[in-house]
Amino acid sequence: MQPVLNFINGSFVEAASQRTIDDVNPATGEGITTIPRSGAEDVQAAVDAALAATPAWASTPLEERIAWLHKIADALEEQAETIAQLESLDTGKPITLARNVDAARSVANFRFFADFVLQQPQQTFSDHGAINYVQRSPVGCVGLITPWNLPLYLLSWKVAPALLMGNTIVAKPSELTPLTANLLAQTMQTVGLPSGVFNVVHGYGPDVGQAIVEHDDIRGISFTGGTATGKIVAATAAPMFKKLSLELGGKNATVLLDDAPLDEIMQGVVRASFTNSGQVCLCGSRILVHASIYDDFLEKFVHAVERIQVGDPSNEATVMGSVISQDHKTKVESYIQLGVEEGGVVLTGGLSKTAPVENVSKHGAFLRPTVLAGLPATSRTATEEIFGPVVTVHAFETEDEAVEMANGTPYGLAGSVWTADIERGHRFAERMDTGIVWVNTWLNRDLRTPFGGVKQSGVGREGGAWSLNFFSELTNICVQQP
Ligand code: NDP
Repeated sequence: MQPVLNFINGSFVEAASQRTIDDVNPATGEGITTIPRSGAEDVQAAVDAALAATPAWASTPLEERIAWLHKIADALEEQAETIAQLESLDTGKPITLARNVDAARSVANFRFFADFVLQQPQQTFSDHGAINYVQRSPVGCVGLITPWNLPLYLLSWKVAPALLMGNTIVAKPSELTPLTANLLAQTMQTVGLPSGVFNVVHGYGPDVGQAIVEHDDIRGISFTGGTATGKIVAATAAPMFKKLSLELGGKNATVLLDDAPLDEIMQGVVRASFTNSGQVCLCGSRILVHASIYDDFLEKFVHAVERIQVGDPSNEATVMGSVISQDHKTKVESYIQLGVEEGGVVLTGGLSKTAPVENVSKHGAFLRPTVLAGLPATSRTATEEIFGPVVTVHAFETEDEAVEMANGTPYGLAGSVWTADIERGHRFAERMDTGIVWVNTWLNRDLRTPFGGVKQSGVGREGGAWSLNFFSELTNICVQQP
């Protein structure tokens, strides 16, 4: 494959240093291509281009920006299969998942925001003879920093509202998954988006990400990634009074109340546990089950998990591919080991030495879906984010105990409750300390709703009007008759 280049001011260019980083297929360990190893100089070039493009883009009428979003969505839709192939190659995720989730949602993000913005009412308020209205202006040049698990899905979730509201962009994808950000850059060039409006700088987080966050002329940062990195981003950006959106890690609970209809919900619980090898920030990695159904659940769950087809991501029948890298596999395995040291029992899966995945490259970062039971809900394994195909299962006796366990982590991103009684589902959901709770479903997303976490899972919300607000400065204009 051709080397990936930075996209700055409408052109594809090498890093100023001319250094590169290898992009590796995690399912085979083979090199795919190289990307630029950029630094502050490249970020500066991208910011210069963005600032030069800002006045014209900011004053482009909204209707025209909406048309641009539709044009981008159309072009991406024509390349949906390529997006899926590239995403599968870069991440090791199954091709069917990349098609149905990554490619489909990336197109949908552009279409959604293009349509949604027109449904927003103009806000006016009148009081004491004065009329107030809210004027939206672009923030300016914004920095978008994204992780490797859902590369184009998450990048487009930020790019679409940022462009729509008149901002220019400097984006930095994870260096592990550069291919679809590159495809997006090529698409912007093909559709003829004005030069400098959208720029991509590839490289390592501490070089490129940090240079974006600390750049004086980048007035807003939308960051999705781990909590530890989020802290560094916040520490840099907050004293500069930048607009800041932080979508961070999670350790989400899947709660089965005593009346949960196990046979009906089992596939939902399996999906919540192991979609994308558990590498979705919303995956339920701690399963809390009422003691009266615990044994029955474990038997059925382990049986269902053992039927997940793990293997070559390009195989249409594969349900779970590799994890993102050998380093990440090592991290996930260290948590499996920790789980055993903390008193857990591996019911299925485990270390790749003892539970190897058959018929895959020996250089691939494969793991079997792993279920651990017998751990205290307060153990490190049950409360720290693993972000891999590992779940812990715990029994509870009362709803109060389940609420305490569900809320007993430093995170608060998502959760799900499974019950035959919708009233109980509502009641339980309202007691969960998270940004989103699903009742009898998982990853069921209406893009108009607020998305984000509490506690160490983040600050701020994206989605619907929250994204439009984040990517706008709001001015209240108050008019009184003289
Ligand atoms: P990281 O925090 O490691 O990286 C996220 C992005 O930040 C990458 O592009 C990374 O670059 C960059 N980065 C690293 N260091 C810095 C820095 N000092 N300044 C600015 N940017 C930097 O996360 P991962 O890529 O490992 O993604 C997994 C994490 O993302 C999990 O914790 C997961 O929960 C979270 N996540 C949260 C979501 C949410 O919506 N809340 C959704 C999806 C994932 P590089 O890759 O080069 O290090």
